Amino acid sequence: MFNDVIDAAGGGRVAALGRRVLEGARVSRPEALELFGIEDQADLVELLAWANRIRARFKGNRVALCSIVNAKAGRCSEDCRFCAQSGHYRTASPSHGFVDSGVMRRAAAEAERWGVGALALVAAWRGLSEGRLFDEVCERIGELAGLGTVRPDASLGILSSQAVADRLRAAGLRCYNHNLETSRRFFPQLCSTHTYEERLQTLRFLRNAGIAVCSGGILGLGETREDRCDLALTLREVGADAVPINFLNPIPGTPLAGTAPVPPMELLKTIACFRFILPTQHLVIAGGRSANLRQLQSLVFMAGASGLMVGGYLTTAGPPLEQDLQMIRDLGLDRGATPAHPLVLHATPRHPVGGAR
Ligand code: SF4
Repeated sequence: MFNDVIDAAGGGRVAALGRRVLEGARVSRPEALELFGIEDQADLVELLAWANRIRARFKGNRVALCSIVNAKAGRCSEDCRFCAQSGHYRTASPSHGFVDSGVMRRAAAEAERWGVGALALVAAWRGLSEGRLFDEVCERIGELAGLGTVRPDASLGILSSQAVADRLRAAGLRCYNHNLETSRRFFPQLCSTHTYEERLQTLRFLRNAGIAVCSGGILGLGETREDRCDLALTLREVGADAVPINFLNPIPGTPLAGTAPVPPMELLKTIACFRFILPTQHLVIAGGRSANLRQLQSLVFMAGASGLMVGGYLTTAGPPLEQDLQMIRDLGLDRGATPAHPLVLHATPRHPVGGAR
């Protein structure tokens, strides 16, 4: 049993690692794998309790809320096996071109009405390169930034160059979501039309441009615990500012439609392990949470989460916003004052969404 190893200060191995994280130490890969390997229920509860302490220490009691507007849907050229928006699969996902200004402004007004601090433009396409469409994207971002009510975020795929990232920054973008989705090892089994390296390069462009990096992944794709661990370690290595955690919602018509769900306690454990590895980042619970966590949803904060994507997702509905806000109040957490333009940014949902699509 994991707690058989008793550290000098009292408590077990989890407590020892938890104390070290609170003191600013980094968990190593072997230590992280040890946490992911926990099976015993009592050890798991202890892991959650320490993840909760780490969240409280580094993120306080405030839950960052973010929302999205589906800026372009369906018929994506890429073949991500989890995604309802891929043009390679027959799904019931809606399809439309780039969003007009009116739709975006209505979404921004709605976000402001509910006190949601960030709104992300999310598009289903491979990515962005210079051209007429990119000019339009920059215009839209500038317009959103000009409203001054919500922080304009975006999730628009792979960036083709540093110049593209720099122009997004100049247009007013402060935070960009681009998920790694899973480990480098497992990624080729999920997508053949682009590489992990292209995703990493996009994160580098963002970082160089001074845009906050929001990058996370999807749980339940068929990955191992080791893959989950390596995803978290890579996100630490690339300096992600915010880490959205999605859960696969298998969409009929996609190759992963029949994938068996991961048990909710295993998902909570994964969130807690992420908190140990990423103590100061925002961990944002995003798509697929209702279907996968069911009655255990509220435990995500005890497991270390510090943010929530609210409202509708891209191709599946989220819980009613009022219900989420009530959950946050009931937990004694503060959902409120997400500033529109904080210096340290937090999450949007993801580009390649999967969990919600
Ligand atoms: S995850 Fe993104 S890149 Fe992949 S198919 Fe879906 S929309 Fe396209």
